[in-house]
Amino acid sequence: MTHYVFTPLPQPSLPIQDSTEHFPIARVFCMGRNYWWPEALIDGKAPEREAPFFFMKPAHAIVPAHGHIPFPSLTAEFCPEIELIIAIGKDGSNITEANALDHVFGYAAGLDMTRRDIQMAAKKLGRPWESSKAFEYSAPASEIVPVSKIGHPTSAALWLQVNGVDRQRSDLANQIWSVAEVVSRISHSIGLKAGDLIFTGTPAGVESIQPGDVVTAAIEGIGQLSVTVATDQHAFS
Ligand code: MN
Repeated sequence: MTHYVFTPLPQPSLPIQDSTEHFPIARVFCMGRNYWWPEALIDGKAPEREAPFFFMKPAHAIVPAHGHIPFPSLTAEFCPEIELIIAIGKDGSNITEANALDHVFGYAAGLDMTRRDIQMAAKKLGRPWESSKAFEYSAPASEIVPVSKIGHPTSAALWLQVNGVDRQRSDLANQIWSVAEVVSRISHSIGLKAGDLIFTGTPAGVESIQPGDVVTAAIEGIGQLSVTVATDQHAFS
């Protein structure tokens, strides 16, 4: 038995819908552009799609889809992004699109919380924008719905409201890259492990929020979230 010099952090996990079991989280990948935002269209039409790109968040950034989250430090532009989460249930590298769905355990709805001003400043300087994405409480997520229950949904409304007002509204059918394509592509870059989560990008309408704001969001039939941005940051220190 290994003796650690201090108590390790607990294993991050998400509940599985209608089950007493939890899904143990390995790593959290997030995808860049996966919906056509109006500014990407050329004469109102979708251009050739570019190869998808991925970034990461720490597994401990995953927090429940309800309750309070802090307003993070070093930002004035804190933005929620509603995203479909793919939960990987089986290891694999260089997975073909034909086999990709066999590696999916289930799906959830999540928020990719972003310090947009930090991201924009880093992009401008050609620096990594990791600190705009990877911080505590930056990935609220719903329970996981297993494939055994819902299969592989290719169409479902997803939306996000702030204080009851629509910010984002689209449908999974509008994703540029399908779940099978996403799983296959990322597995050619890095070996996927059971327990990995993949956030699959967000539709247009991303805008910043303030302390006290209530963010409600859902992907119909998959998951819903309701988080409040705390006004007292001391509760989280
Ligand atoms: Mn995102």
